[in-house]
Amino acid sequence: MKAVVTGGAGFIGTHLVHALIDSGYEVHVLDNLSTGSAAGLDPRAEFHQVDIRSVEAGEIVKRERPDVVFHLAAQADVQYSIRQPFQDADVNIMGTIRMLDACRETGSKLVFSSTAGVYGELQKERIEEEDPTVPISGYGQSKLGAENYIRLFHRLYNADYTILRYSNVYGPGQGVKGEGGVVALFMDRLMKGESLQIHGDGEQTRDFIYVKDVVQANIAAARKTCQSTVHVSTGRTSTINGLASYLLGLHGGGLEPAHTPAKMGDIRHSCLDNTKAARLLGWEPAYSFETGLKQTYDSWLNHVG
Ligand code: NAD
Repeated sequence: MKAVVTGGAGFIGTHLVHALIDSGYEVHVLDNLSTGSAAGLDPRAEFHQVDIRSVEAGEIVKRERPDVVFHLAAQADVQYSIRQPFQDADVNIMGTIRMLDACRETGSKLVFSSTAGVYGELQKERIEEEDPTVPISGYGQSKLGAENYIRLFHRLYNADYTILRYSNVYGPGQGVKGEGGVVALFMDRLMKGESLQIHGDGEQTRDFIYVKDVVQANIAAARKTCQSTVHVSTGRTSTINGLASYLLGLHGGGLEPAHTPAKMGDIRHSCLDNTKAARLLGWEPAYSFETGLKQTYDSWLNHVG
């Protein structure tokens, strides 16, 4: 099997590329290294330093004719998308159209990395895939726009796809910018001996999914015929206070968290129902939050060491 991974030099992409090659895939990575790094890239992958919007990126897909394109490359910084909506939409929508156009010619399946950000401030115990999408950032809107182009190409050309909407992804190698990076931010401060900063009362909840589970969901999506949109999440929540106290316990204490004013637009509660992924992809998360955090913490320690 042959795969193209766009954004393969980024946080999630690096893990996905390793796992694909380990399971026998030939992998081509398309990445412009705007936030990613070639340093962590699996040397067994063929690396192409290109912008996903470029003609060249489309030509690589057409030449290689992969079975599947995992499309992860994106402008994934929410704050940037609010300041620079044009650049955000350009990468996230036009980049996706470039990939779709190439996949239409080669018949490759597109597995797309989308986000809980498409739901905006929707407050519900557990959000389901059919719930209303009302984004509150350029990023949420551009990801939803990209999703809609994918569904359009399916209607027009019967293009094969699966859209995966991730909750907050965390794990080894995550940078401190971009989406959902509270775990990485906390790790970074712990390693520097700085106290953890919690916005507001810390009782806001998040659905944290470990990066290795996200990788397995992508691989499951490539194997199944599932022209649908599914959540990649745990369906469980943790509070930011709970996360902080668990990490401080791992670290051996000594640092009291500091509470800062609540951030404007910070969503109070976020949890994605994952039963559709279990039903359609046969995928369920395999890592507990404690195991995932421990592995992440150990990797930060190794990195600092
Ligand atoms: P990341 O920033 O680490 O990786 C994105 C990669 O895309 C980087 O290597 C970057 O260099 C590359 N890239 C960006 N623009 C490009 C362009 N124009 N051309 C070519 N390459 C380009 O982000 P990540 O956390 O690994 O996220 C991967 C995907 O998952 C993204 O689509 C993101 O929106 C989605 N996602 C992430 C999370 C999360 O919590 N990390 C949550 C939901 C969805």
